[in-house]
Formats: sequence, C-alpha cells, structure tokens
Amino acid sequence: MQTIGLLGGMSWESSAVYYKLINEGVRARLGGLHSAKIVLWSAEFQDVATKQAAGDWQALLRIMIEGASALERAGADMLVICTNTMHKLADEVAAAISIPIIHIADIAAAAIKRTLSRRPLLLATRFTMEEPFYRGRMLEKHGLDLIRPEPAEERDVHDIIYRELCQGIVEPASKERCLTIIEAARKRGADGVILGCTELDLLLSHANSDLPVFDTTALHAEAAVERSLAGYPAATLVRTA
Ligand code: GLU
Repeated sequence: MQTIGLLGGMSWESSAVYYKLINEGVRARLGGLHSAKIVLWSAEFQDVATKQAAGDWQALLRIMIEGASALERAGADMLVICTNTMHKLADEVAAAISIPIIHIADIAAAAIKRTLSRRPLLLATRFTMEEPFYRGRMLEKHGLDLIRPEPAEERDVHDIIYRELCQGIVEPASKERCLTIIEAARKRGADGVILGCTELDLLLSHANSDLPVFDTTALHAEAAVERSLAGYPAATLVRTA
C-alpha cells in the first residue's frame, strides 16, 4: 500500500473529511481492520486566509513547499492538496518535490466526463472561480467550459465558505442561497454542479439537486485510495472500484 500525503488544514474542516473518506475507502476495499497509510501536514488557516486575502502568494508558496517537502520526507508516495484554491500553486509545488500530485481539477474533470455534463456550474472560493488556474485547466486540458455564478452570487458563495463552512458553521439559509444560485445557473445552461471547494460538501450533496453534483472532496479522496492500492492484486480486494 502506498502512503498518502495530505497537505491539509485549509481548512481542517475538510481535512477531517478527507481522513475519514480515505480510511473508509481502504476498509471498503480490503475489509476487516485495514486502514490507509496517511501522513498529514496541517496549516494554520488564519495565516493562510490572511495571506490569500492580501494576495501574498509568494509567502503561501513557501508554506505549501514547506508542507509538501515535510510530507515527502515523512514517506508520502503521493501528494493530495486538500483544497481547490491552493491548487493555484500546484505547478510550483510540483517543481519543488519529487512525488506526484493528484490534481483535484483533473480528478473532477474525469468524473464530469463520465457523465453527460459538459457545462457544469463552478461553486468555489472567488480565487478558484475568477482565476485561470482552475477554469483554464478545465477548458484547455479537458474541454470543459465551466459556468460561473453571477458576481453577487460569487461573493455570497465565497463568504459562505470563509465565514461559515471553514469555521464549522452550517447555516440552512446558506444552503438555500446555494440552491437558488444553482437553479439560476441551470436557466443559463448549467448541466451539472461542481462543489469546487472542499468544504462545500458540508452544506450540499447529491440529494440537493437533480443535476449531477461533483463533490471534489469525495472524488479526490477516492482517487487517493485508488492510487494507494494500485499495486494490490484484484483478488485481495473485497470490493473493486
Ligand atoms: N478548502 C477550500 C477550497 O477547496 C477553501 C479554503 C482555502 O482557501 O484553501 O478551495
């Protein structure tokens, strides 16, 4: 079994979900007492969020490389950056380490392309929705033209993520707001919904929409499980994917 390196704490609310989902995924496949081999590096998120808001991405890159290098030294065979937003720095982090990064946008794209959805709505932080590192990669590498919420909707989603979900607060009114945004986007042609922030699954799930919902946390965790067990002969798996 390969060791999964989690670059987490952004926020820890979603890292905790990754930890649980990855262990559940290994147990589902191997049964019994089996569990995942994981090393976790966890950031101080106030510091990260302050630097994000100030646009200090050089300082954030130093933090990310410090964490990724520590995970590699601790024996991680692969790096899982447990946040969509910080994939803004994924290429620079990749250049500083020698283990592979499981890129969350590529995993989400593969899941989208297994469905008929080609123009899903992206719900995420403003960094992920506005900047090219995510939507650009989806378009250029995967041919997926993601729909953005309207500007006022983007502000609300961003605020829900930082003021509520990353602080462990789940408000029914925020769920309603997101559902309204999804319905408005459907009228503009959205044929799916990407939960493109790893805390959004605390608020929304497949059950909340009849559009296909792509939960990046669950998909990313599942991809890490798959990769960590790639060397296992199929006969030893209780359940194959
Ligand atoms: N976890 C979030 C994401 O997936 C937002 C927090 C962060 O800025 O890392 O984008």
